[in-house]
Amino acid sequence: MSAKAVEAWQLDHLKAMVSYVYQRIPFYKQSFDDAGVSPSDIGHLSDLTKLPFTEKQHLRDAYPFGLFAVERDEVVRIHASSGTTGQATVVGYTRNDLTDWGECFGRFLVAAGATAQSVVQVAYGYGLFTGGLGAHQGGEAIGCTVVPISSGNTRRQIQCFKDFGTDILCCTPSYALHIAESAIEQGFDPPKDFRLSAALLGAEPCSEGLRQEIEAKLGLRMHDIYGLSEVMGPGVACECAQQNGLHVCEDHFIVEIVDPETLEPVGDGQWGEAVFTTLTKQCSPLIRYRTHDVTRILPGECACGRTFRRIDRIRGRTDDMLIIRGVNVFPSQIEEVITRFEDITAQYQIVLTSKTPLDQAELWIETVAEFPFDEVRKLEALRKTISGELKSSLQVAVDVKIVEPKTIERFEGKARRIVDRRERK
Ligand SMILES: [Zn+2]
Repeated sequence: MSAKAVEAWQLDHLKAMVSYVYQRIPFYKQSFDDAGVSPSDIGHLSDLTKLPFTEKQHLRDAYPFGLFAVERDEVVRIHASSGTTGQATVVGYTRNDLTDWGECFGRFLVAAGATAQSVVQVAYGYGLFTGGLGAHQGGEAIGCTVVPISSGNTRRQIQCFKDFGTDILCCTPSYALHIAESAIEQGFDPPKDFRLSAALLGAEPCSEGLRQEIEAKLGLRMHDIYGLSEVMGPGVACECAQQNGLHVCEDHFIVEIVDPETLEPVGDGQWGEAVFTTLTKQCSPLIRYRTHDVTRILPGECACGRTFRRIDRIRGRTDDMLIIRGVNVFPSQIEEVITRFEDITAQYQIVLTSKTPLDQAELWIETVAEFPFDEVRKLEALRKTISGELKSSLQVAVDVKIVEPKTIERFEGKARRIVDRRERK
């Protein structure tokens, strides 16, 4: 599909989608009417900016089925967010929606080298969370052998690598690292002992350093995959073998990058918040959904030849952004620095304290098992070097605290990197 053909396709589908939601979902009729726009105002793709945004709160307010656009007998599946930070949000799928989802994820498996002979091990959690079943139907869509092991039970994950000859792994980056560390601890040499060739890892940001560590330890190529349950689930965008940006499935979604403060679109190459409009979803379509994920459009064409535009790897969430003494810091930037050091692991926690009137951040990192932790001078020298690099990279000082190996809690799903110990007033 040429870039021109993509635009023509998007415009046709956008026009149809805007009329569809206006007629079928009272929330959108009201919101367009309030903003003084009607479906007939969409003549060009740039007219999208005339439409109001959809916020997560709108989905919460409509809990559970208030934003569904189809009759209930057409809904074949629902998924829901965990609701850990408020009312859960529910997303529904028609049979067609599931087919599209499988196709989107399936494409990315193919980009990672999967064939009908591949064994795809899905170590994302199954359930209301979209990770497990999203990867599952992607694998089935292209005829792979899917191993629906779900997350957890790390010993069994390793056993499956060995016994089933898994070549493609799907899970979170932190869990992939945990599996790798456990396998090595059990005496395996994963690049030699397993047949792994690629991993589609997502659901949390992953720095270049963490990627390299996972790739080296497991002996595979890691493809960063992006998605969120409100928009579909995993498979909205993913890296190709170039590992240089994530191609968005632009035949199903329009991506915009906006300034999170002004909500005005920013130019290609500029960082901002990703906003998605679905073009083909039947049950839970969304117009200009604010993700709060921070990324940018990578200008230019990809060497792989795909024409779908690329977003950069997610830097963090607008609400994960820490403000340390007035400076904006994303946990991913900290990770980028600490993963350059061989003497420490990629596991870390940022502990927010309030020792002083200004918010203070303490960074907890741990040494690898081989590091002579009892040699105080070596430890202090390491701490100083890391603090220096962090300061030059973040433009602000962070208190570094080095702890013994295996002190920092491991997670089987999304890692909890920020611990907030500030006193609430
Ligand atoms: Zn590419």
